[in-house]
Formats: sequence, structure tokens, C-alpha cells
Amino acid sequence: MTAGTNTNPGGHARDHGSRLLTALRELMPRRTTPLSPDESLQIAERQASRFRRELGLQQTLALPTSLVGALPFVRVTHEPLLPTPGLLLGTDHGWVIALNATDIRGRQRFSTLHELKHLLDDPFVASTRHDPLTERVCNHFAACALMPRMLLKRDWGNRIQDPAVLAKRYGVSLSAMAIRLRELGLVAPQRRGDRPNLSADELRRLAHRLERVWDSPEPAAAP
Ligand SMILES: [Zn+2]
Repeated sequence: MTAGTNTNPGGHARDHGSRLLTALRELMPRRTTPLSPDESLQIAERQASRFRRELGLQQTLALPTSLVGALPFVRVTHEPLLPTPGLLLGTDHGWVIALNATDIRGRQRFSTLHELKHLLDDPFVASTRHDPLTERVCNHFAACALMPRMLLKRDWGNRIQDPAVLAKRYGVSLSAMAIRLRELGLVAPQRRGDRPNLSADELRRLAHRLERVWDSPEPAAAP
């Protein structure tokens, strides 16, 4: 969510002439035709990895998101009465990211990066825009920054494959990790109505459970 005033492609005093901000915004192509959803998602991933590289944190598993608040152009606050997970406000002095203090830490970390992407895109996409694609692109930036493809695939290859363990390693919520694993094709997408493929062993255990249905006392007749 964003609360803001004007947008200015040439930059704004509140950006503090930040080199990091310029480097990340330069990854956005300068052209008048709109980006396709796929292009927007790819750029978000490129910006996320550039963000880590600029900070020298390519190999860090749990990105310390508190460093966002230490950047010269933005302050991060925690608010107990926020109607949304996060909110971005452009002021004359600089940007403010407000996080919902009642959210779990993993969620707050995700919201920090999500709002940072709104901030990055401000010269190109009005920061007051919250259509589904804009939100999806900001979520993708956050997911890529917190769970980089390269690190996660390496962990997976090293047999660290328990989503709960991975969520802890990267400091994200379990649901954010589950989505990212599906996105990277490491876990098959589960569709409603999917039937599990049972191994011979699992089938035997199931048959055993079914046989024991007759061992239990008869269920009470419905009144
Ligand atoms: Zn948003």
C-alpha cells in the first residue's frame, strides 16, 4: 500500500541522490511501450539480485532487512494500527515505510522489501497504484530478495528440502517459502483435486488402516 503525492521521473529530493537507488532504477528499460507482466517480473528479480550485490550480501541466507531503514533515503517504522501489512509514504524529507507491528517477523521482513519495490518503481509506476499486477511484481521482488534462486537451489541440491527449515533459514513465513519453492519448480504445484501418488508401502499402510475400521466400536447412530 502506498500513500504518496507526486511522481517525478527525474528523481526527487526525497531520494537523497542515492547511488543505490539510481543503480536499481537503471535496470528499468526507458521506453514508452508498457512492459509485459513477464518483463516486469524479470526486472524485479534482476533488481533484487543487484540489491544484494550492491550491499555485498549475495551469500547471506537471511537478508538483514533492518538495513533498509539504514539507507539514506528511507526510514522504517513499526505501527500497531496499520490497516495493511505495509505502507509507503513519500514525504519532503524522504521516504517512510511503515510496517504492521502486529504481523509476525517473517511477514514484516517481506513487507519491507515489498514496499521498497514500490519506492523503486515510483518514477515509472505511480506509487499510489495497487492493481494486482503491481502488487504481484512487488511481491516477486521481495521473494527474490529474501529467497534468491541461486541460494535456494543450492540448499535444495544439498538436501535441505524441508519448507519449515528453509523458511527459518531465510527468515520468511512458511507460506512465502512454499510459494517460492513452487515458483522455482522445486515443488510441484498442488492443485485442488490432485490425487496423491501412493507408494506400495503407503498403500499397504492405508489398507491396514482401513481394515481396522471394523475393530472400532460401532459409530453412534445419528439422532
Ligand atoms: Zn503493495
